[in-house]
Parts: sequence; C-alpha cells; structure tokens
Amino acid sequence: MILRSLTGVLTAAAFAATCFMGFQTMKARASDRMLKGAGITKTGLTPLYPDAFDCSPLTSLYASWIDVDGRKRSEKHSGVDGGRLGEPILSPAAGVVVTTWKGDSGWGDEGALLLLHTRADLNLKDGAPFYYSAFDHLRFEEVAQYAPGRKVARGDVLAHVFRPGGKKKYLPEVHWEVWEVHHPTAIVWGTNKRGRPDWVNPTAELIDPLFLLSRETPPDENLQVTVTPFELGGDYRRFRGFTYILPCRQRGT
Ligand SMILES: [Zn+2]
Repeated sequence: MILRSLTGVLTAAAFAATCFMGFQTMKARASDRMLKGAGITKTGLTPLYPDAFDCSPLTSLYASWIDVDGRKRSEKHSGVDGGRLGEPILSPAAGVVVTTWKGDSGWGDEGALLLLHTRADLNLKDGAPFYYSAFDHLRFEEVAQYAPGRKVARGDVLAHVFRPGGKKKYLPEVHWEVWEVHHPTAIVWGTNKRGRPDWVNPTAELIDPLFLLSRETPPDENLQVTVTPFELGGDYRRFRGFTYILPCRQRGT
C-alpha cells in the first residue's frame, strides 16, 4: 500500500517533470519562432561585437524601416546591411553557389549571389533542412565567375562591399538576406518589373540573419547577439550557425 502510493507519487512526479520539460521545450520553440522573425517581423535582436575585436558594423537591421542613410524605407527591410566600401564579404558558413546574376532591385544594375547551406553545414540538429544566403549590391564582374554548384567554405571571400546599383549617390553596403528553405528544388526563376532575373521559392521564408548568428552563443537577456568573427585557421567543425560576414580586426594587432 505504502509502496504503491510511493510509486504513485513518483509516477506523478515523473509525469510533472516530463510535462515541465515539455513545456520548457515548447517555450524554447516559441521563443525561437519569435527570434527568427519569419516573414520580416521584428525580432528585437541587435548585434554586439566582441570587445577584443574591431568589427565592421551592420548599418541597418532586419525588419527595420530605417535605411543606412537614416531615411525611412518604402518597405520593411528584408535583410541586414553593413560594411564599408571595398571590405571583403565572408561566407557565413559552408555552402554551394545556387547562381549569380546581374540584378536590379531598383537602384540600378548590380551583382547578386545566392548561396545554399544545409542544416549540416551549420551543425544544427533541428530547424529547417536548408538555408539561403542572398547577397545584393555586389559588383557583378566579381561574382559572374561563380558556377552554380561551386562549393564555398566558411569564411571564403565571396565579393567586396560595393554600392547599390554601383552608384556613388548611395552609401556603400552589402545587403544580406537569410531564408529558411524546405525544398531548394522548388525555386522558380522569372523576371522582375525591371526585366532582371528574380526568383521565388514557395518553400522559403525570410528570417533575421542575427538568428543564425546566435546559434552558438544565444542572445543575452537584452536580445543582444554577440557575433562570432571568422578567424583564419579557426576550428568551426562543431560551430553552430553563422560566423560574421564582415571583417573584424583583433584589437592591439
Ligand atoms: Zn538592405
């Protein structure tokens, strides 16, 4: 009798613990959903650059209405902007080139690059099976040479920071979009209203790049994301998510 009720208590305790863990997992998943900002919703994530490094900053964040020049945008920002003229743009993880093209998203002719990363490239165990990194405002000649399927390694120099449409009247920046992708083969190419190549993938959804920059070190209580600079010779075999795409100089060197 005593034993049986003790078993009952233990079973109830185990059940409660399981429920609690389940609840915690659900809570973690719910907060992950908010931190992703799927479909250009504000996440509140902001970048923090490690004290030991002087990093080229992000100048306009995801889902922001403010552009790099401080002006109001005509629509919410679909990615992050950053960099200074001529700085290298580093691949945030291993991946393959989907393609490159001469695009025009309203500022003039410029180069664009689309990379595909697998979940394994990012050392992630859950979440979407694939991710895109899309880069705009590049110099087309710099990326034209990349053949579809070409492999890139984390930290590879993809291109250098240029200007929207290559025009001097625009401040230098790279525009970086990150998409969760379920079926890469579902991509469909067409042309935009300026007659330039453009793609859609109904199984892809925009997310905040800072979400994938915060998989190794989670955001702090103020939602600040300490970005991890890419360092040559670093061991990233188990590193989760993205390293930073812009250069960081170690202070004192
Ligand atoms: Zn942008």
